[in-house]
Amino acid sequence: MKITIVGTGYVGLVTGACLAESGQDVVGLDINAERINSLNRGQIPIHESGLDDLIAAQSQAGRLSFTTDYSVVKSSDVIFLAVGTPQSHDGSANLSAIWSAVDELARHVTPEMLVVTKSTVPVGTNRKVLERFRSHLANRAPGVASNPEFLREGSALKDFREPDRVVVGVDEAATAERLQRLYAPFLQRGASLLVMGLESAEMTKYVANCFLATKISFINEMANLCDSVGADINDVRKGIGHDQRIGFSFLMPGVGYGGSCFPKDVRALSQVAVAHGRDPVMLRSVDQVNEAQKHVLFQKLHRHFDGQLHGRKIAVWGLAFKPGTDDIREASSLVLIERLLAEGAIVKAHDPVAMPNVRTVFGDRLELNDDPLEIVAGADALVLMTEWPEYRSPNFEQLASLMSQRTIFDGRNLYDPNQVRACGFRYKGIGR
Ligand code: NAD
Repeated sequence: MKITIVGTGYVGLVTGACLAESGQDVVGLDINAERINSLNRGQIPIHESGLDDLIAAQSQAGRLSFTTDYSVVKSSDVIFLAVGTPQSHDGSANLSAIWSAVDELARHVTPEMLVVTKSTVPVGTNRKVLERFRSHLANRAPGVASNPEFLREGSALKDFREPDRVVVGVDEAATAERLQRLYAPFLQRGASLLVMGLESAEMTKYVANCFLATKISFINEMANLCDSVGADINDVRKGIGHDQRIGFSFLMPGVGYGGSCFPKDVRALSQVAVAHGRDPVMLRSVDQVNEAQKHVLFQKLHRHFDGQLHGRKIAVWGLAFKPGTDDIREASSLVLIERLLAEGAIVKAHDPVAMPNVRTVFGDRLELNDDPLEIVAGADALVLMTEWPEYRSPNFEQLASLMSQRTIFDGRNLYDPNQVRACGFRYKGIGR
């Protein structure tokens, strides 16, 4: 099949590269000319493990190319919409990229083509996409389907190649059959292609993300309570996780969720609820708990230094919103660093891949260093924000000899408090 992917961000690039690998003929289309030029020079604008090699191999094989020219759509069978749907000022999803893409597509599409929305869009959007095509093209409109994406940054290629499930929302059985053929190579390990209506597919994506965000906010609220009552959330977590109705996944306390999806999707679904006259009590609380959680480590630091943060040297390990990505959208590290700088602290930070993005936020207000140990030298405290594998087992004796004061603020409960304390450190985790 000939495929066009509109939008070459995290989702568009991974989708395009994986579909090309499965034998399809793929063009990645974007309005960002700089991005397309880089891709055509073989430079990948995002960090995602294995993606650069896959794109290079597929480009070389002649199955993957990139353009800014919407007229490539003329020779497509299937067009995926993978443009961004960021948050608007009122919390709802901003669909302006969807509408401008649809208007551009309308100049080139035919009724034989299928336009598939992979971007996360509020319920009702795909039907409006169809109406918009019809307003341009009357009965010459293409088919429309919803196919929400569940990949996770950091493991995106594996998630796309071996999905848990593929959800498609359609109006007609024939559309589902077309997508079944396209996805067949990815379903060989037994995953199902779940066919449902457009509205249900759109809701499925939001409900999945909101449920996961709810688990995180729930365990964070319980961790904070453990801090107050002298319990250890790690023991509590094990105590509940062995109950099969509860389980262990997504119940790790930390510094709050960030990234390009959970925060905006929780707020967007809240806005959908409000628009339908419903009060999204839980969703609002999930968001509130998360926003507060982003300040918890700062409050611990503030208390630990008796409010005297001016001139303190604080080393921060990990800036990306999670390991495996350079994405810092809504990252908790940004909130912590902003507050520390506002108090006059001297902040030095390290991240394996996200430092260039962080530099665009803080400029020279923050010292970034390629060596995680160098920023620890002379520090009054070390704060762990992102649980990258390279931070998992530091040499605590060496850290102790380098630091001026020995305190570790472990925002991911990564370290064993006893081991850390045995090296002369004070240990502050989340709910321990
Ligand atoms: P992104 O911001 O990384 O990339 C979006 C791309 O779309 C950009 O390159 C931008 O230039 C391009 N674009 C914008 N308007 C365009 C237009 N009119 N025509 C062509 N290109 C245009 O976004 P992303 O993180 O890949 O997310 C895309 C969508 O997928 C969002 O709706 C997001 O919620 C959803 N999603 C993201 C993830 C993730 O982990 N990032 C996972 C699942 C779903």
